[in-house]
Formats: sequence, structure tokens, C-alpha cells
Amino acid sequence: MVEVRSVHKSFGSLEVLRGIDLDVRTGEVTVVLGPSGSGKSTLLRTINHLEKVDRGSISVDGTLIGYRRSGDKLYELREREVLKQRTGIGFVFQNFNLFPHLTVLENVTEAPIAALGRPREEAVAAAEKLLARVGLADKAGAYPRQLSGGQQQRVAIARALALEPKLLLFDEPTSALDPELVGEVLDVIKDLALQGTTMIVVTHEIGFAREVADTVVFMDGGLIVEQGPPAEVLDHPRHERTRALLAKVL
Ligand code: ATP
Ligand code: MG
Repeated sequence: MVEVRSVHKSFGSLEVLRGIDLDVRTGEVTVVLGPSGSGKSTLLRTINHLEKVDRGSISVDGTLIGYRRSGDKLYELREREVLKQRTGIGFVFQNFNLFPHLTVLENVTEAPIAALGRPREEAVAAAEKLLARVGLADKAGAYPRQLSGGQQQRVAIARALALEPKLLLFDEPTSALDPELVGEVLDVIKDLALQGTTMIVVTHEIGFAREVADTVVFMDGGLIVEQGPPAEVLDHPRHERTRALLAKVL
């Protein structure tokens, strides 16, 4: 489903991704761990072309992201085409990023109506189902500021799901939450995993990684230093650097 091939990305003289190769199969969950500044968010952002790669390529579901190949040349896609690709890739941020002036229901229906041209009644019916799925059926008329962080993040997940994405990306979805609210958000993500949603989740929640991930990836200094099934990477890390990192978060 996701094929990342020797992706390089620099900001000025700082090389943030130094040759990333990653495969995510359909229906699988990949958890990305790694210290601050190792390039985790940048990697996620290149996957939906919020950041342009300097070298390498990324494809999702067989489609090259951000570019069109013609012969052996690559042409950058226009903004409109990039936006269209992006509707197939859900992104859930650390800080929820809900529209504060829209109700919960409007937050979830906005993109299907505006970006996909769905009829309003259809978008509302789908949104109500999604809100029920994340346990917020009774909050449809509330505004984001009236919700807890955990509830806001569950709305953000429903909003991402409303576009029926092939792939969901999560960037530290629980790190802005009070500890007692982390579980309710992780439970929703776990439930999506059980239903076969393809996801890449950047998180420091090792317990979640152990339970839900098919593959755990460790990044350090812009490289993937280790990847494999959770039992292998978390319990028998091969590299000294991974051991040191795990010792810190466990
Ligand atoms: P954290 O765990 O703190 O979220 P991360 O692994 O997600 O870290 P990134 O956000 O990908 O790390 O950042 C990697 C490096 O790239 C950092 O040194 C960061 O300062 C730098 N960086 C990220 N985005 C930009 C940008 N737009 N311009 C300049 N430097 C950037
Ligand atoms: Mg980050």
C-alpha cells in the first residue's frame, strides 16, 4: 500500500531524512518510534506531500505522490491534483486542528461536502455513523471548545475517516492529552486496526505499539535504524542505539 523509496529531505543544510525505505502493507499498522528531531513528523508529512522530497519517491496504493511520471522524467503535480491525492490520505495531528467555529458534526461533514461534493444529507448520515463509532453520537451539536482533548481528538479521527481514506497517518495523536484521556483515543485507533485500516502511527506509547503494531520502526538521525515485528524490535533490539532509546521510554 505504501512504498517509500530512498527518501531524502533537507531543510537548508540540515538533512532531516537521509534515505528512508519503508513498506506498509494493506491492512497493517506501522508504529514509528524515535527521539525528538529524528524526522518522524517530516516522514509523515512527505507521505501526503505536505513536504516535498529532495530525492526518492513515495507511492500510496500504486499512485506516485506529488509527481507524474512521463517516460523517465518526473513532473510535479499541480496543487489541485495534490489536494485530490491528499483526500485519500487521512492525517490526524497532535493538536486536533478542528475548526473552532464549526460544530462537531460540521467539522466531520465539511470536507466530504466541499472536497468530494457529497450531498449534505448523505454527508450528515455518514458523519453521524462515524461519530457513533468514536463514541460521540451525543456531541454532534457541540463546539470543539466544549469538548475534552480526548473527545476533540476522536472528532478529528471521525473527520479523517469521513473522506474514506486508503491510509491514515497519526502524528503523536495522544501526546497533547492528559494521561487519563490517552486510553479512549488509543482504543479508537485500536478498533480501526481491528477493522483492517492501514495506518502509520507516530507515538511514544510502547504498550500500544506492542499490542497493535504489525511493524515497529525506529528512527534516529533521519534513518530507520531498526524495523520488524514488535516482539523483535521492542524485546530483542539489535542495535545499541535502539536499546538506549527504549531504556528511556520504558
Ligand atoms: P518530535 O518527536 O519532537 O516531534 P520528530 O522526530 O517528529 O521530532 P521532525 O519534526 O521531523 O522530528 O524534525 C526533524 C528535524 O527537522 C528537527 O531538527 C526540526 O527542527 C527540523 N525541521 C522540521 N521541519 C522543519 C522546517 N519546516 N524547517 C526547518 N527545519 C525543520
Ligand atoms: Mg514530530
